[in-house]
Amino acid sequence: MSDEKMKMPKFSDIQYTRPSVEAFRECAMSTRLKLMAARDPDVAENALMIFQREMSAFDTAFTLCMIRHDLDTSDAFWNDEMDFFDEHYPVVSELSAGVYAALLHSEIRPQLEERFGTMIFQKTQNQRDIVSSEVLDELSEESSLETEYSQILSEADILFKGKHQTLSTMTPFLESTDRETRKKAHKAVSDYYLSNKPKFDEIYDKMVKIRTTISKKLGYKDFVELGYKRMERYDYDPEKVAVFRDNVVRYRYIVPITSEIRRLQKNRLGVDKLYYYDLPCLFLHGNPVPTIPQSEYFSTGCQMFGKMFSKDPSFFQVLGEHDFMDLFSRQNKATGGYCASLLDYGIPYILMNANSTADDVATMVHESGHAYAALRSIDSSQFIECLSPTLEACEIHSTAMEYLTYPYMEMFFEKQADAYREQHMTLALLFLPYGCLVDEYQHVVYSHPEMTPEERHAAWRELEKKYQPDIDYDDDPFYEPGGAWMKKEHIFTSPFYYIDYCLAQVCALQIWDISRKNRKKAMTIYEHLCAAGGTKTLIDLVESAGLESPFSVDVMKKLAYQVCDYLNL
Ligand code: ZN
Repeated sequence: MSDEKMKMPKFSDIQYTRPSVEAFRECAMSTRLKLMAARDPDVAENALMIFQREMSAFDTAFTLCMIRHDLDTSDAFWNDEMDFFDEHYPVVSELSAGVYAALLHSEIRPQLEERFGTMIFQKTQNQRDIVSSEVLDELSEESSLETEYSQILSEADILFKGKHQTLSTMTPFLESTDRETRKKAHKAVSDYYLSNKPKFDEIYDKMVKIRTTISKKLGYKDFVELGYKRMERYDYDPEKVAVFRDNVVRYRYIVPITSEIRRLQKNRLGVDKLYYYDLPCLFLHGNPVPTIPQSEYFSTGCQMFGKMFSKDPSFFQVLGEHDFMDLFSRQNKATGGYCASLLDYGIPYILMNANSTADDVATMVHESGHAYAALRSIDSSQFIECLSPTLEACEIHSTAMEYLTYPYMEMFFEKQADAYREQHMTLALLFLPYGCLVDEYQHVVYSHPEMTPEERHAAWRELEKKYQPDIDYDDDPFYEPGGAWMKKEHIFTSPFYYIDYCLAQVCALQIWDISRKNRKKAMTIYEHLCAAGGTKTLIDLVESAGLESPFSVDVMKKLAYQVCDYLNL
């Protein structure tokens, strides 16, 4: 990367121009014709590569627009541009599906498969299965609803202790060691959601209905089927995922451990009963927080990744020095964190919302894992579609990075590093049942699209009892009737995504387990996974890197044992 440093632009120097849908259409049409007529693989390849450049340019413009919009959601210009993409992205997807249909039906397909590998054909077929010209209007409507929801969240303005807070800057108060403070903070957040509940219910209801309509028009039974296609699940289905959830609950590996964690937490905090507002406070004297100021996150990250990969400057430093990251929370910045790639430049961008909690470090490391994988896989395929794998596999890159940086956490937490690692591992474990809960909820919702908002809330509350049996809402008017799902953006904007984090967690924990005995082997597995990009499906990727399938009950059993040992449970 350092060789390319000279050529690398600053993020602010990248020019944005709204891409032309007409030019895209022309390119797509001409590629389609060339592919249909091609009898020579070279001709087909040339045509495809020209189209790849056009797609890369369109996607780069979209990503650039999304990032600039997310950095200041109040900027009217980027809001308009996002509207443009909401409206036109489905058209572009449909045009590209047309191009790939010609690839699928090419008379010289066997030669092309030999040349390009089969992954692009699998992806192409999948793309064909999820879009058609008949559903373009519905797709635009779906994406406007998603934008509307995210917009409301980013504008959240919670008055707490006399100050305006975002949902993200509320987090430290939610974890406060002072019980009254955290109780009030939780109440403030609950009040915020309660007052927006009718709006969120309306948006979600429309989303469920529109997604169901799209599914039916495309010939699916329901949105569960389409959702799996959209998530590109090539080697597993809802039955297999149900078995995974069962491994977490029924076989008594994970949920019982979380009950033990809560019991110990209650004792540690010295409270007679653990209420929902106590849950985020794991330690009596407070959760570990970084002992360095926010202004040193970047330089410390540079040192850490430099050591870890024996590279100076590290990929992290190069990205930061060119402004390809924005780490801190502020008003009118989109919530959450992500890493998005600007394909034309081959450079990932990291956006997150640091708020001086331990999560800052975990998120920075997590998104850096995505960024590292994006850089490592840059030459793994000539097709942009195959550069990064399906999302669960991407989450292995990021989650494993969280574990692989454990030995360096003293740099951020000094004497509290042990507490950080304990907290991080505890949260990972608590996450598994929660992730399964979010997943099963969506299966219920989309298998029964006729449910009313009230029925959905009740269904959530029932499932909570299965996956989080220890939760006590103290009769909170938002949470007790089953409102907590509304806090999870993925349920609105990325249906069926959530189980990916759980599958990734189980793979990343395997890497952690290996790293405790053999650091070098763990790093080799990690490099292998990142460098493979999206050239294989999930199970193939995982197994070819030397890990076991996350669906294996034995893996779950083994990891539960190792984690208990690590946490002294
Ligand atoms: Zn991630």
